[in-house]
Amino acid sequence: MFLVIGLLIALGLAAFVATPLLSAEGAGNSTLPVDVTPLGDLKRRRLVVYENLKDLEFEHQAGKIAAQDYQSLRENYLGEAAALMAATQEAEQLRENDAVIEGEIAARRASRKIQPPQDYVCPHCGFENPVPVKFCGECGTRITDHPRKP
Ligand SMILES: [Zn+2]
Repeated sequence: MFLVIGLLIALGLAAFVATPLLSAEGAGNSTLPVDVTPLGDLKRRRLVVYENLKDLEFEHQAGKIAAQDYQSLRENYLGEAAALMAATQEAEQLRENDAVIEGEIAARRASRKIQPPQDYVCPHCGFENPVPVKFCGECGTRITDHPRKP
């Protein structure tokens, strides 16, 4: 019972601390505040767990908490910290993947810009039609028999 109440208080405190921060930063700001990223959120939650652990140590040393409650609360916080750390590593991995994918997309976009629009080059006059066309914009030759290559 004590454990549940302690966890609820911790969660409530975390939400209470986070909410005004988010709403204040979010208002009138088109870009997301750094802390709203999944990674930032995880780090903040980890800090909260560490704070709770420190408080727990103090209460234990001050004799304010029963040994049994101390042990179970401590186990719980440590488990939470471990889970958050695993989630952080996962999020970091995801962010790295995102960076890799974004890099590939950028590279693709760049190479697409450099490549001439082969698909719509007129076989008759060589005019590079800038958009998909059935007939050459320059001489009117039919160019649909040049299917678009991936
Ligand atoms: Zn042509």
